[in-house]
Amino acid sequence: MHEYSLAVAIIDQVKAIVKQHKANRVKKITVSAGPYEMVIPDLLYEAYDIIVDELDKFRGSKLELIMKPAEITCLNCDYKGEPSKEKDEEFAFNFKCSKCDSRDTHLNMQYLTIETVDLEIPE
Ligand SMILES: [Zn+2]
Repeated sequence: MHEYSLAVAIIDQVKAIVKQHKANRVKKITVSAGPYEMVIPDLLYEAYDIIVDELDKFRGSKLELIMKPAEITCLNCDYKGEPSKEKDEEFAFNFKCSKCDSRDTHLNMQYLTIETVDLEIPE
């Protein structure tokens, strides 16, 4: 299960942050991913809950996944951002630059990234 290994990877990264800040507990983790990362949020949350139930410092914490819009880089004008929303059935997977209308674009992969971690840190 893809989501299970993603949850493990997130927790491993946060464990290092917990250690670095000498935190007592993790309250909430926010992660983000692009639309082509193929993460199913419910499966990710489910996997997360199962794993953290075994971890003292993570038990009861929440994971939130934010889905980001697609992002392209235009090879013609260097525009970086959301592609043109103009519909074009014929080129469904060929994104169009929203600045210069070029189809010479590259879809940027936006891997699962940890955005914020809410920790309970002792005084
Ligand atoms: Zn462009």
